[in-house]
Amino acid sequence: MASARHGVREAPAGLALVQELLNTRATMHYGADLLLLADDAQRWLTEAITTWSRVSGLPAPTLLISSSDLRSLRRLRTTFEHVIAAAGKENLDGALPPADVPVSLVPDADGWVRMVPTGRGTRWLASALWAEALLAQQAGLWPRLKLCHNGDCRAAFFDTSRNNSGVWHDVSTCGNTANLRAFRERKRLMGGSGGQSRPPVGGPPSYR
Ligand SMILES: [Zn+2]
Repeated sequence: MASARHGVREAPAGLALVQELLNTRATMHYGADLLLLADDAQRWLTEAITTWSRVSGLPAPTLLISSSDLRSLRRLRTTFEHVIAAAGKENLDGALPPADVPVSLVPDADGWVRMVPTGRGTRWLASALWAEALLAQQAGLWPRLKLCHNGDCRAAFFDTSRNNSGVWHDVSTCGNTANLRAFRERKRLMGGSGGQSRPPVGGPPSYR
């Protein structure tokens, strides 16, 4: 699975499907872009929607990915990167494309309404992803799905910190890299004398 490559905690319930899509992007040194080759994409998608089906209790369709679907999948991923960045008040170039995505509302015998993705192929996936985005927004979970602030990383992680202040997918890797960079920059500005300051050890206390 894509998120497992980063060792990040999975977002709760169906929101993990959005996180999975975001984490298909090539990572610093542990993996290729999973949406570049049809075989990789097929393997990833089958596993991702099987997991989604298990947690959502809804049936998963069989989606067969052709090489012409790869572009739609990558476009979908870019769209969600923009949506997540917008939620985090980050500015990325490019506007959100207008999206018109069908879903079915299916009341059960007790009158509880389920939101069921519809459509075929990658349209089904788009329907499932937007449905999960809506559910997560209603549940207040959406602002906790973030992209790592390390520009070389951008792993999608679910922030469990109490005040939702996390910015790194992993403080001990991406957080320390950033601390070290800031330390070197400060040292450079101070004339490189070194002085009393030492490189930071461990993560910054305010981020978890
Ligand atoms: Zn990171």
